[in-house]
Amino acid sequence: MLSDHADEVVVLERDDVALSGDFGGGQGPRPGVPQGTQMHALLDAGRRRMDGWFPGLSTELVADGAALADTGTDVHSYLDGSLKVLVGGVEMISATRPFLEAHLRRRVLALHNLRLVNGRVRGLAFTADRVSGVRYEGADPAREDVLTADLVVDATGRASRIGAWLREAGWPEPETRRMHVDLGYATALFRRPEGPHGPTLAQSLATLPDGRLRLGTLGRVEGDRWIVLVAGYADDRPGPTTEEFLRRCREDPAEPFRRLAEDGEPIGQPVTYRHPDNRRRDFHLLDRLPAGLLTIGDTLASFNPIYGQGMSSATMHASCLAAYLESGPSLRDPAWPYFRQTRTVVDDAWQTSALNDLRMPHVTGARPRGFSIATRLSDLIVQASVTDPVIHRRFLEVMHMLSPAKTLMRPTTLTRAAWTVRKQHARRP
Ligand SMILES: Cc1cc2nc3c(=O)[nH]c(=O)nc-3n(C[C@H](O)[C@H](O)[C@H](O)COP(=O)(O)OP(=O)(O)OC[C@H]3O[C@@H](n4cnc5c(N)ncnc54)[C@H](O)[C@@H]3O)c2cc1C
Repeated sequence: MLSDHADEVVVLERDDVALSGDFGGGQGPRPGVPQGTQMHALLDAGRRRMDGWFPGLSTELVADGAALADTGTDVHSYLDGSLKVLVGGVEMISATRPFLEAHLRRRVLALHNLRLVNGRVRGLAFTADRVSGVRYEGADPAREDVLTADLVVDATGRASRIGAWLREAGWPEPETRRMHVDLGYATALFRRPEGPHGPTLAQSLATLPDGRLRLGTLGRVEGDRWIVLVAGYADDRPGPTTEEFLRRCREDPAEPFRRLAEDGEPIGQPVTYRHPDNRRRDFHLLDRLPAGLLTIGDTLASFNPIYGQGMSSATMHASCLAAYLESGPSLRDPAWPYFRQTRTVVDDAWQTSALNDLRMPHVTGARPRGFSIATRLSDLIVQASVTDPVIHRRFLEVMHMLSPAKTLMRPTTLTRAAWTVRKQHARRP
């Protein structure tokens, strides 16, 4: 987005990610993206945008081994072990995070006016009431350099120190809202024997007989491997052993997980990851903000990863950035229009995540007004989506961030969902 409007874009990155051009087995997770060890599926909203900006990217990913899965055939969603009716038209990419990142990075680094600098940002540089660059350390940690810029975009992720950097210079820091979800993840890679293995991607949401909520996703990825994630909340978080991983797969009522436990050959040990909280930084609520500064991606908001919204959200912020720059703003003014627009995007993803997370007893935080009715209506939609293709399609469009969450609350959708659930009850023995 920046390269369309700037003379030069400098990407300042703490990890040494200079590309060898080889996407083979050498691409592993890196320290600056610790979540890169975990399953990362790319939802349709993100995939479509990335393909728009980098034509042919999906095709390239697939040619190199990633899977492009269509919800009409290859993506199977299970609710308590029941396979939801298949409806097409929504596609997603299944690949490991380092693989996806390497392909995207190669396209970005090919931009004629973009330069990569290896260095760790330590803070912002200010001139009067604007940000005029960043302070960073390169190879020699004893030395600090300043990179001047007309516009600084903080994309350092959810652990960004942007609040402290602003405070140190006498600016107010944005309020950071946190929702403690305490989610435990474990991701493992598998090989499977040749032959049909059902869906390219399977997702399972199940409540065990004792009330624990279990989540799982498995997908075919590059290198003829399968990536599998199992997740649970609070004390039910998965541990790092293969035995426990396979036990959890067997406990999952969705068939693809039980089959994987039977015929999958683990590659290495599972890797665990703990996601303590969802968080958002509400820049739009500040009363003062320096000019020349934007934040994007997880720096703005990071959600419960189980919904897979993070990378697609970042592409939506990038669309807001494009709209902001195309409007020809004066960079002498704070970027309020940008923060107002991204707020809408953040609100929508936050709502999807919050509605589901707040219903769990261990999740602290005030329940918003109307919460109880909203959760009941949301349950109705989820239950109806098991058998009703129209409702499932609308549900998928929201989950893939192609439509705003509020579209599911339209009276026509709710009425249809209520009828569907009634029919489901009537059919039960
Ligand atoms: C367990 C887990 C699973 C997830 N699964 C999915 C999924 O399936 N689908 C999905 O879409 N999203 C998923 N996400 C979310 C996704 O990882 C993030 O939303 C996304 O990576 C955000 O991108 P970002 O560029 O804002 O930040 P990041 O990807 O975190 O990148 C931040 C970058 O800034 C660099 N950096 C940090 N500090 C400095 C500094 N001081 N100086 C210089 N460079 C610095 C880092 O090295 C890194 O390159 C998941 C997240 C987690 C935790």
